[in-house]
Amino acid sequence: MTGAPRTIPFGRPMIDESDRAAVLRVLSGPILAHGPEGKAFEAEFAARLDPAGRAACVSVSSCMAALHLACYQLGLRPGDEVIVPALTHVATVHAVEWTGARPIFADCERATGNVCPEAIERAITPRTRAVAVVHFAGIPCAMQEIAGLAARRGLAVIEDCALALGTRVGGVHAGLFGDAGCFSFYPVKHMTTGEGGMFVSRRPDLARDVARTRAFGVDRSHGERVAPGMYEVPSLGLNYRMSEIQAALGRSQLARADEMLAVRRRNFARLKAAIASLGGVSILDANDPSTESGAYCLVLVLDRPVARGDVVARLQAAGIGTSVYYPQPVPRMAYYREKYGYDAARYPEATRISDRSIALPVAPHVSSEDVDYMAETIATVLEAS
Ligand SMILES: *Cc1c(COP(=O)(O)O)cnc(C)c1O
Repeated sequence: MTGAPRTIPFGRPMIDESDRAAVLRVLSGPILAHGPEGKAFEAEFAARLDPAGRAACVSVSSCMAALHLACYQLGLRPGDEVIVPALTHVATVHAVEWTGARPIFADCERATGNVCPEAIERAITPRTRAVAVVHFAGIPCAMQEIAGLAARRGLAVIEDCALALGTRVGGVHAGLFGDAGCFSFYPVKHMTTGEGGMFVSRRPDLARDVARTRAFGVDRSHGERVAPGMYEVPSLGLNYRMSEIQAALGRSQLARADEMLAVRRRNFARLKAAIASLGGVSILDANDPSTESGAYCLVLVLDRPVARGDVVARLQAAGIGTSVYYPQPVPRMAYYREKYGYDAARYPEATRISDRSIALPVAPHVSSEDVDYMAETIATVLEAS
């Protein structure tokens, strides 16, 4: 192995001087909530997703909040069914569960980890109202197929885009295929606001309703009131707002999003090329030139009879941080297993990826030398295992 021992964490927020200055600028002024930073962040994020202006964005406190607002505002309720991926962050499914609708799990594709369109089709019943998908580790779902299927069957589509900044299908950004796209700005995502998220939609009516529900269901936000302190409450609401401090950090991060994304993609390609030829492993990727991946991390599946825990421990000892996307198929997680029962045979691909994969870092804190070191270490560890 080359060079001195390294420490490569799985994720690390990339905060620079311009981020710190942006936050301090807000803290030096009087407006810490519902002000110009939030509005500007929404407009800039919308322009990034669709320069033609068809994306409406609503900043929120997390991706979970955006997902919850999407499910609520689409009118999901008890008696409804929503098809969800078996392999996803639990947030995708919790959002459905909070409305009282029933999540129906669909297995994923072996090559990408993304929910399988045929599995969605098979899961449709007369009670199905919506389909929620996740772009697994930034790998684009088959959105044209899924959106087409949903349109034919009259179903709403929610895209969990928490790891999908920069993910595109046929030039269209993830989050703009269905009714709602939900992004995350958690510290180790593509960009961060500390905690935070963005609801996006091509439907201005839906975005307007979400914006109101996000802020107590109040008809006028702080700056729009005719008389001080006076407002009406036409609908039920929550407080899922993002602060001005977070929005300022988001704007500053967004200005570097392309740069950071380019590093991820470069690292992903370099690592993939270096380890793809190792026997007994497969790498999840789209392998479709009409799509672009957000390249959140590189998910390696162990198809050889080694204990994953041993491989992870050896990589950890060599200074390489890893993660697992996701630790269990959601229907096997205790809450869902106990509520709905669990039939392992229904999710063979989600189970394989959950139980046999290792997620490797490719984020902007990882240098090309780090990538080469990871590739050499992985080869050595697998040889020894
Ligand atoms: C991180 C993540 C979430 C949750 O995002 P928060 O902003 O922390 O609520 C949801 N879905 C996926 C796929 C994620 O990776």
